[in-house]
Amino acid sequence: MIRVRIPPSPTGLLHIGTVRTALYNHLFAKHNGGTMVFRMEDTDKERSTKEFEDDIINGLVALGLAGDEGVHLGTKGYRQSERTGIYQKYLQKLLDEDKAYYCFCTKERLEEMRQKCEKEKRAPRYDGCCSEISPGNAKKRITNGEKGVIRLRVPKDRGDIKWNDLVRGETVINSKELDDFVIARTIDDPLYHLTVVADDHDMEITHVIRGEDHISNTPKQILIFEAFGWELPEFAHLPLILNEDKSKLSKRKNKVSVDDYLKEGYLPEALINFLALLGWNPGTEQEIFSMEELIGQFSLDRVHKGGAVFDIKKLDWINGEYIKKEIADDVDVFYKKLVPCLKNKIPDNPELIKKILKDPDFEGRFKKLSEIPDELSVLFNKLPDYPLDLIMRGKFQITKDMLKKVLEKAKEVVSELEWEKGDSGKSAELAEKMMELVSGLRLKNGQVLWPVRVALSGQEHSPNFSTLMVYLGKEEVLKRLDFALQKL
Ligand code: GLU
Repeated sequence: MIRVRIPPSPTGLLHIGTVRTALYNHLFAKHNGGTMVFRMEDTDKERSTKEFEDDIINGLVALGLAGDEGVHLGTKGYRQSERTGIYQKYLQKLLDEDKAYYCFCTKERLEEMRQKCEKEKRAPRYDGCCSEISPGNAKKRITNGEKGVIRLRVPKDRGDIKWNDLVRGETVINSKELDDFVIARTIDDPLYHLTVVADDHDMEITHVIRGEDHISNTPKQILIFEAFGWELPEFAHLPLILNEDKSKLSKRKNKVSVDDYLKEGYLPEALINFLALLGWNPGTEQEIFSMEELIGQFSLDRVHKGGAVFDIKKLDWINGEYIKKEIADDVDVFYKKLVPCLKNKIPDNPELIKKILKDPDFEGRFKKLSEIPDELSVLFNKLPDYPLDLIMRGKFQITKDMLKKVLEKAKEVVSELEWEKGDSGKSAELAEKMMELVSGLRLKNGQVLWPVRVALSGQEHSPNFSTLMVYLGKEEVLKRLDFALQKL
């Protein structure tokens, strides 16, 4: 039975990289009929906060990536701070079996050692000074109140540490590169490597799937598994997520908190789709995937080794596709998601807004929910001023006098027509009447339609004139034509 885990540390808001790791674990587990465990790694007491923990739990639950067991269900024992007694027992076992030992070296001595290594251009490593202290003697010193950390005794003859990484293939680290590293500050203050291994063992984790930034931790953790005589899980290290300049994804160059993306109007499903492709290649041209399709197609052997560039343009495109689909599927449901973004930006006119969203002339224009009010603003809010030059700038220029005539005639045509605001069925008739005007004036299409469209939108790019007319309504159309005329 496959069991995977997502073990974030609550030292920051839910990070986009954590979501990708959760997603790949989720897909791997579901594809194989396995289970995902959600564990909160809150041993770093100084940096862990309840606020971060809540943000991570709520975010993963909302995305459907919180797994089948764990801290989000309120079950006890999935938060490392609740398991100190367990770690203490394990640490004691390693001490009793002489697989770990107390180290009493002072900060100053360790610092001196570090500097010496640096001078000799060697990686800093502990020299094993305290490894010879007898367990009885060490115990006495601790009982007498002396401070000491606990180090794992790395077997001298251990040789190469190898594992067959399910993404990276055979990976080898020489144990000589590892020193007797610290696994606990005190018997009741265990450190990351010890707690992770103890939990992965106790929670019967079969596959450790995590970011490549953890690769240097893996040999250390393998040594701890071996010290206990526990069976090793499989390991898979996912490629780093990179900024466009190929540096490691950072706050300075990209948003990294999932909340920021959701607030900006990316749909959760689109974000998941995008993250699925950030390191995994389906082997086909397909780019839009439902969760079911991802689960069906996902495999670790299609996860690539090279870093995955966070391409925001691709996210925008994917999000636009999801917006299109959601509008087509059920505009009422979509509108509800849009409401928080509309606040104070455009008047709340649900029926008209829904009609606009569904209008084919607006299809594909929306990339993010947060941009929709700006896109629609032209239809609802007072037209911002624009330069006369914009009306004149059409491909086939005309004189000011001619332009005046065009706008006046357009006003006449519009005055004779009647339509209900939002009745897109009228669009064809409005277009037809304007085309009659074009031929009546013996002008080219652009010489009439460009100025009319700019007069209605004040924009270089906008939906076409008849769509604008439909949603602005007759009164507003006349007003905007007048406004343009006043510029002449
Ligand atoms: N708690 C670690 C982190 O948030 C993850 C540990 C692991 O996956 O082994 O980076």
